[in-house]
Amino acid sequence: MNSIYYDFWGNIIKHNNILIGIHEHPDGDCIGSALAIQRVLKKQFGKKATIYSPESIPSCTKFLTGVNNILIKEKPDDYDLLLLVDVNTVKRTGIPQSMLCENIYCIDHHERGSITYPNEIIIPEASSTCEIIYNLLIANECPIDKVCAEYLLTGIICDTGDYAHTNTNEKVFLISSELTKIGANPTKINKFYFNEKSFKSLKLVGYVLNNLLSFERGKLILGYVDYNYLSKNKRYGIDSDTINGQLQSIKGYKLSVFLRELEPNVVRVSLRSPDKVDCNLIAKEFGGGGHKNAAGCTIKEPLNKAIELIVNAGKKHL
Ligand code: AMP
Ligand code: MN
Ligand code: MN
Repeated sequence: MNSIYYDFWGNIIKHNNILIGIHEHPDGDCIGSALAIQRVLKKQFGKKATIYSPESIPSCTKFLTGVNNILIKEKPDDYDLLLLVDVNTVKRTGIPQSMLCENIYCIDHHERGSITYPNEIIIPEASSTCEIIYNLLIANECPIDKVCAEYLLTGIICDTGDYAHTNTNEKVFLISSELTKIGANPTKINKFYFNEKSFKSLKLVGYVLNNLLSFERGKLILGYVDYNYLSKNKRYGIDSDTINGQLQSIKGYKLSVFLRELEPNVVRVSLRSPDKVDCNLIAKEFGGGGHKNAAGCTIKEPLNKAIELIVNAGKKHL
């Protein structure tokens, strides 16, 4: 395993000007991963490293040092390597075709899509991309300082749902323990990441719960928010994890689905399952992807039609 990490890192540091790409709807794992790699490349190797985001950064990650330097849809300077983190296709990074370079590397834990890159580390068993980056840095004897430890622990806490999801295991606790020893503070991360919600985002949770639907005698739970509500509330705190967390608290569900009508006829779908139902397979039917227990896709249909399509697809997997 370590040789993959040496070769991968050795190839990265041959480049001097690196652009780091993260996924749309950025979360703590892609942002933590990108900031951690950027810090090591800049501080320890004197490289130029820039992070590009296709969308604004969620407020729950604003406590992370340096997060305000991420380019939001802004043209980066010329670069010689694009490193994808927590995403396995340039399509989801929002980087326009005209801005792409030839060298593309990838570090990710999502199930493999149809594209592969010659230099990639894809480990779907890993809890988070931050876990993979921790192992990459340790294998290459790159020191992890307190700030970097906070980045990495944020990704782990985000993707394990604060050590609750099925990807929580012994390795996760061992790495978290090491990062805590370095100085990362899990209580602080939990507070900022999960418990600094705005008034409007809690009202949104109420709105979704009020309109909750149940199918197949409670095995499939579905929440949605329509464009009309979202446009009036100016997309305040559309926090899919908080809502998914609420849907997942229901006894006996096998699949939970949350739909957001972001634009008329553009519906973003989040799928979660507690165990057997494969969300990745369902998302793939609509051109999306993710993991077995958490995946997403976008359906370009009116909300009612999207609900019908996803319910029919979901029922087949229950
Ligand atoms: P979400 O429901 O948007 O929070 O996404 C759940 C998980 O699936 C996250 O790990 C996402 O990064 C991943 N995911 C969402 N949409 C896609 C997609 N279109 N392709 C691959 N992975 C996705
Ligand atoms: Mn992510
Ligand atoms: Mn992730």
